[in-house]
Amino acid sequence: MAQVPVAAGVFTWPSDDPRLIGSRCAACGIVTFPAQLSCPRCPSTEMAEHRLSPQGRLWAWTTQEFPPPSPPYAGPTGDAFVPYGVGYVELADEVRVEARLTETEGLKTGMDMELVLVPFRTDDDGNEVMTFAFRPAAGARSGG
Ligand SMILES: [Zn+2]
Repeated sequence: MAQVPVAAGVFTWPSDDPRLIGSRCAACGIVTFPAQLSCPRCPSTEMAEHRLSPQGRLWAWTTQEFPPPSPPYAGPTGDAFVPYGVGYVELADEVRVEARLTETEGLKTGMDMELVLVPFRTDDDGNEVMTFAFRPAAGARSGG
């Protein structure tokens, strides 16, 4: 099955070492994700591509127990829906990213998380659509 990214420009693709693609303001240094064309903090429009750290700390999270409104949600619904975690992960003290979490249990505020690409759905052409998520980093997982 071929794999395709959920959207262009969200993360490096294809990549053995995936990174989220954000932007950084040349004037004030603020980092945004997703990438933006103008700075949310100052008048600058000099936003350069900035690859985010694949590691961060869990800041807040919840569990998505039912399919979100569609659109924009385009994932599994009905019996195919599986609850998933969603949370904010702070990357390298630069930016907080809202993302899927691979786990719904055993999460703790401040725990180390790492970026992974996960299958999200199958599109009409039979491609496996990949999206990004965070999972507890190897050192933070208990028991395995
Ligand atoms: Zn700025």
